[in-house]
Amino acid sequence: MNVLVVNAGSSSLKYQLFDMDKNTVLAKGLCERIGIDGRITHSPADKEGFKADLPMKTHADAIKYVIDALVDKNHGVVKSLKEIDAVGHRVLHGGAKFHESVLIDDKVLAAIEECIPLGPLHNPANLTGIRSCAEVLGKDFPQVAVFDTAFGMTMPEKAFLYAIPHRYYDDYKIRRYGFHGTSHRFVSARAAQMLGRPASELKIITCHLGNGSSVSAVKNGKCVDTSMGLTPLEGLPMGTRSGSIDPAVIEFISEHENKSAKEVLRILNKESGMLGITGKSSDFRDLHAEAKKGDDRCQLAIDIFTYAVRKYIGAYMAAMEGVDAVVFTAGVGENDREIRADVCKGLDFMGISLDEDKNSNAPRGTEAVISKDSSKAKILVIPTNEELVIAKDTVDIVLNRK
Ligand code: ADP
Repeated sequence: MNVLVVNAGSSSLKYQLFDMDKNTVLAKGLCERIGIDGRITHSPADKEGFKADLPMKTHADAIKYVIDALVDKNHGVVKSLKEIDAVGHRVLHGGAKFHESVLIDDKVLAAIEECIPLGPLHNPANLTGIRSCAEVLGKDFPQVAVFDTAFGMTMPEKAFLYAIPHRYYDDYKIRRYGFHGTSHRFVSARAAQMLGRPASELKIITCHLGNGSSVSAVKNGKCVDTSMGLTPLEGLPMGTRSGSIDPAVIEFISEHENKSAKEVLRILNKESGMLGITGKSSDFRDLHAEAKKGDDRCQLAIDIFTYAVRKYIGAYMAAMEGVDAVVFTAGVGENDREIRADVCKGLDFMGISLDEDKNSNAPRGTEAVISKDSSKAKILVIPTNEELVIAKDTVDIVLNRK
């Protein structure tokens, strides 16, 4: 069974075609500048890819080019559209409605639409991606939605409810949802496999550290707490996002600089975090390079970040009454040895002991155990694979339907 995984953004669309029988990626690619001009980068696994500037007024145009590329005589990986069995979509916000992945029908589309106020930047783009596929592939072509928020739906009320008047939850479902759920789900399940124990008896802390970052507490295979909230702004300081701050800061800036709440939120989303502290970059590679040259602010930004991750690890150990494994994943977690070392420094008293050599020698992009043999909790590096989860859910749902 071949599954096309689509991650539609406001002006971009990432795709991967999986052969789920052989467990391989046949091709992947990216359409960019949709609605502006349009560019496709197509990379088949076993032959030469191509880049081309092609007019993409809409996401439907982009999907047409993706299908053309996939069936192309020279760069294609399947003979015809008939060899694509289903599409799986990444959808950011499923609100309180979606606790798992679902087959898309009109009701599901309407429910995703209802969640737009919760994910105003992403949900409209995700919907456009789904509708464009229906336009190009046909209304009855099987499409599945996989929600970033679904994994967080197992959190108990004490973890997901904000201490604000209860009617805001009753009326608008304002609560902690959490994001990167597909990633936390994938790496926590892989961690259980690496430990050779059933997920149902493990306490795992998953640190998804990238440009956007979040930490989750996964107990007995279920998410019991996570750092992101109603939106992906809460929790850790990130590349350009502030993470958690005193909400009164919003009014303070708004009054002193005569800015609307919306403008202040834009600053907290786009001009804060590592970029805001340093005024230089949101990218940890730049921060390390500048810190080594003596830029104290870049070192401070790194310290603020690792300090926040450490605090979440402590908090989630308390929440779960222990931990069996701490997992690092995503761009920073998978690649940045210094950040991993900083986060774990001095945590030996909690049974988390990093092995400096194993950490330094862990090859990039592969799974690794980087804790000392004597460490009570294992420290693991696990490359995340959200697309594979989406493809697997799509297969499960489509096969069950048949
Ligand atoms: P996103 O949240 O956009 O999906 P990623 O998970 O791809 O982000 O992570 C991107 C971040 O990962 C970059 O901003 C960079 O700071 C960091 N990163 C990527 N590669 C490396 C590396 N080799 N060393 C250190 N940091 C890296």
